[in-house]
Amino acid sequence: MDEALVTYFQAPHSFTGEDVVELSCHGSPVVLAELLRLLVSFGAELAQPGEFSLRAFLNHRLDLTQAEAIHDLIHAQTSFQAQLAARQLRGELSKQMQPIKQALIELIVWFESSVEFVEDDLDALDLQHFRERLSGIAGQISRLAESYRAGRLIHSGAKLALIGRPNVGKSSLFNALLGIDRAIVTPLPGTTRDTLAETLSINGIPVRLIDTAGLRETDDVIEKLGVERTLTAVAEADLVLAIASVESTLSDEELDLFKKMPVGLCVLNKCDLTSARHVEVQTALSQYAPVLSVSALMGQGIVALRQAIYQRLVSAAQINTEDAIITNERHYAALEQALTSLRAAEQDLTRGFTEEIALTNLHQALRQLGVITGETLIGDIINQIFSTFCIGK
Ligand code: GDP
Repeated sequence: MDEALVTYFQAPHSFTGEDVVELSCHGSPVVLAELLRLLVSFGAELAQPGEFSLRAFLNHRLDLTQAEAIHDLIHAQTSFQAQLAARQLRGELSKQMQPIKQALIELIVWFESSVEFVEDDLDALDLQHFRERLSGIAGQISRLAESYRAGRLIHSGAKLALIGRPNVGKSSLFNALLGIDRAIVTPLPGTTRDTLAETLSINGIPVRLIDTAGLRETDDVIEKLGVERTLTAVAEADLVLAIASVESTLSDEELDLFKKMPVGLCVLNKCDLTSARHVEVQTALSQYAPVLSVSALMGQGIVALRQAIYQRLVSAAQINTEDAIITNERHYAALEQALTSLRAAEQDLTRGFTEEIALTNLHQALRQLGVITGETLIGDIINQIFSTFCIGK
């Protein structure tokens, strides 16, 4: 039926660490279906989602962060996401965690032996020594946890809300940023009835644009809904762009609105038009945030605007591409819990509790660090993680 290349990987030199035979055949669905039917008739079983990665994990070929990186790599939408996932796949996160864990283990050992040999409580000098080592470890964990601000942005993307009066060109700007005709543009004020959302990649960060309806006070039911949605959009946005047009002076309503909202950037649109009010509007806007002049219609200033959006998002999150970046919420949660336990251990001693209680908290912190790489995890959670993988991975 077909000619195939058969590759035999002898244990432990395969991806899963087991004996593995790979069949490479010609890709026709008919050939593949027939081959599978034959293999199953000889007793083979079809793999569950993520089963190869799970087996590799159980056979210690990968730790959990590496297995999760495979999932992230497959689902990467931007090249930056892919780069970070590839780094994690090479084991970089685990490598960064190793010295932290080692320091904590040493601290536990030191603490245990101190507690065992002294008859009374630890003396002041010991306590001081313990605190210093503890705060060193907590500092490293905390730096790693902080990188999640940037990691979340790279992994899940940022939300951007455009606010401004009807007809200033929000939909046009939205389209210009997106590069396609997505929102409906009309010359009538207040015709953007809905919030539309679409994702674009700005220097590797997936940015979800939320185009909002106008913020005009209104009795119109449909438009009122739009206004409510605008307020919701602003509440969940990572960056708010205030849009105005060179055509008209800012109204009291706009001034009031921009003052109330956490505006990160101002966009002065319709700069292709000659307007006597241009400078006046620009000055008024500059009291809220840096102003960028654009023409959504002609595409002027859009590249600079994209760059400014990136700068704002990145500086808020402080992305340092050299260090390990936590992109996974599960890892972040474990780091935070480890920190909580370390702080509790310190407080236990300050409050004069017995050393045993502090020790329990130190062990708890160590367990939490182990959760990240999968050394300490219960089966249910492991199954849950691998079940999100595709079949064949
Ligand atoms: P929105 O209500 O704020 O979403 O505004 P729209 O994007 O629907 O634009 C309102 C009107 O302004 C439309 O007729 C657009 O063609 C026009 N418009 C938008 N941007 C520009 C621009 O940069 N220059 C000029 N001359 N007209 C624009």
